[in-house]
Amino acid sequence: MSDHADPIVGIDLGTTNSLVAFCDASGPRILAAPGEERMVPSVVRFADPNSRGSVGDQSTRNVVGSAARAEAGRYPLSTIASGKRLMGRGFAESVSESAPLLKVVEGKRGGAAIEVLGATVLPEEVAAEILRALAARAQAALGTSVKRAVVTVPAWFDDAQRTATRNAARLAGLEPVRILNEPTAAALAYGIGREARSAETIAVYDFGGGTFDISILRIEADETLGFSGDLFQVLAVSGDTRLGGDDIDSMVADWFAREVGVEASGPSEAAMLRLESERAKVALSDVEVVRMRATLAGREREASLTRTQLELFMAPLLGRTLVCCQRALKDAGLGAAVDRVVLVGGSTRIPAVRALVRHAFGIEPYCALNPDEVVAMGAAIQASVLEGRRHDMLLLDVVPLSLGIETVGGAVAKMIMRNSMVPLRTTEMFSTSVDGQTRVSIHVLQGERELVADCRSVARFELVGVPPMPAGIPQIEVEFLIDANGVLNVNAHELRSGRRAQVQTIPSFGLTSEESDRMERDANEHAREDMSAHRVIDLAVHSRLDIKWTGEALQRVRSELPNSLVAQVEAAMAQVAAFIEKVQQSGPLSVSGDEFLAAKNALDTAAVPVHEAAVLSSLRAQMAKETS
Ligand code: ADP
Ligand code: MG
Repeated sequence: MSDHADPIVGIDLGTTNSLVAFCDASGPRILAAPGEERMVPSVVRFADPNSRGSVGDQSTRNVVGSAARAEAGRYPLSTIASGKRLMGRGFAESVSESAPLLKVVEGKRGGAAIEVLGATVLPEEVAAEILRALAARAQAALGTSVKRAVVTVPAWFDDAQRTATRNAARLAGLEPVRILNEPTAAALAYGIGREARSAETIAVYDFGGGTFDISILRIEADETLGFSGDLFQVLAVSGDTRLGGDDIDSMVADWFAREVGVEASGPSEAAMLRLESERAKVALSDVEVVRMRATLAGREREASLTRTQLELFMAPLLGRTLVCCQRALKDAGLGAAVDRVVLVGGSTRIPAVRALVRHAFGIEPYCALNPDEVVAMGAAIQASVLEGRRHDMLLLDVVPLSLGIETVGGAVAKMIMRNSMVPLRTTEMFSTSVDGQTRVSIHVLQGERELVADCRSVARFELVGVPPMPAGIPQIEVEFLIDANGVLNVNAHELRSGRRAQVQTIPSFGLTSEESDRMERDANEHAREDMSAHRVIDLAVHSRLDIKWTGEALQRVRSELPNSLVAQVEAAMAQVAAFIEKVQQSGPLSVSGDEFLAAKNALDTAAVPVHEAAVLSSLRAQMAKETS
């Protein structure tokens, strides 16, 4: 089908299940062959490295999806499920991880890896197997090669986890055009079907197998500046990367072992018991009581579990989802007042979860969308926006976790607060503490707590080549840039000498950029795709806001400003508006990203005095009010 040449597909790379979708003029759809299950279980069975090469042997090929999942009990030592829980995580923090069937070992730089039949497998490699299977599906369904994807991650994923996800895509031969937050994807899918054409505030409550996410978004039917469509603005996100249906399964399995008075005698029995526990849990969404059967210590055991008992086990987990909801609502500046709650994730099929949501938000949850498929559908919609085939949706996303730097005494100085809109840029000044010092080490952390020990280490930077000067004299400006994927980039230069300090990034976990580049080269024969469409769309989104804010400020203080300045700002606004117009008319590839950026920068610079005057004027108005 040549009309879909070089398509971008949307992928929901879930902890439990993964899906691939595509969106064209007829709307988004899940890609699967007729008769094939729409969800691919995120389970991989690795081939035995010792039997590789013996032709015809079943064990020489990796197996992904339902087949791997169904035979997990038979191959407990080579089957990996819920591998996403280890993505971008450290070994030390993963040993306590509730992934009991994975043998977690220490990989490079203290990152988590998994031992499979004596070999070490990285979580990125597990994810890459799943992504390869999804790409093959998409290729078969679309009849063309698939090399680009929008891949979703939990909103709560930090820098290391997002980077690991991108590396996994590259390993699978897919360019990760955008890393998109899962709840945001769900909101996009909700948005294209919604009836209301007015503004709405929605909550996306995503309770899956491995993670819980809550997002609060504002959807506005935007008609300004010639853009007609829905503007999606993420107001706040919160969640828990260690909270999901898997945890309920573990509780049921533990209960069963206690109830029958024996433990699983090996990994195979444990794997079968977990499958049976999940089956029982799923059944209890429809019936009141279920009979469980599992072989423990070599004999078949039986016990009955009721829905009420299950609800009792789940209560603390559900309580934790509520804490996240409250925090997100608070960050969004809202009480419980949302217009809609969209349910996402298999675990939202549990009646107690629906009751809790109803109670917490005071409204009936919205269930018209299939909770299993909505994230992949949304990813496909975002993909079609990035391809320039859709112009009726704009997405403004936020960074999920605050970013800070280690300061003396193991404290963390916050630079970027959570829920700030991306992409964003901030700068921080550093200096030296010893005469003649030519290196400065900077430790970047992510998290909300005050102490280094309580935050996640993202990376350590070494600024080298600082000109030797007395202590405290060098002025090193470090620029932190968070791109639209939520991934951090760092630049630095010393202001007195004008020299660029080199930044050496040492990621706290996972692969260094050289390693991932090499792996990417190995896996990818094709060159990196042109990313300019993606960049131009981001520029359009942000400069629209610039124009709006500057226009509003100008309105208020026009009479106080010299005519020449007003004229200059208006000319700069017109230039930027012309670029936005062109993007909307002829697509993102019709303009040069560099020229667009230059126009936007010119407007930003010209508008500084306008914003200053506006701030002063509102301060004066405030003071006048207070003194009168
Ligand atoms: P993820 O996003 O983590 O991949 P999913 O959204 O696919 O997860 O949800 C998978 C989880 O949903 C599993 O824990 C599964 O047991 C659970 N689940 C699916 N259907 C039901 C159901 N009817 N009742 C209870 N739990 C369910
Ligand atoms: Mg999911």
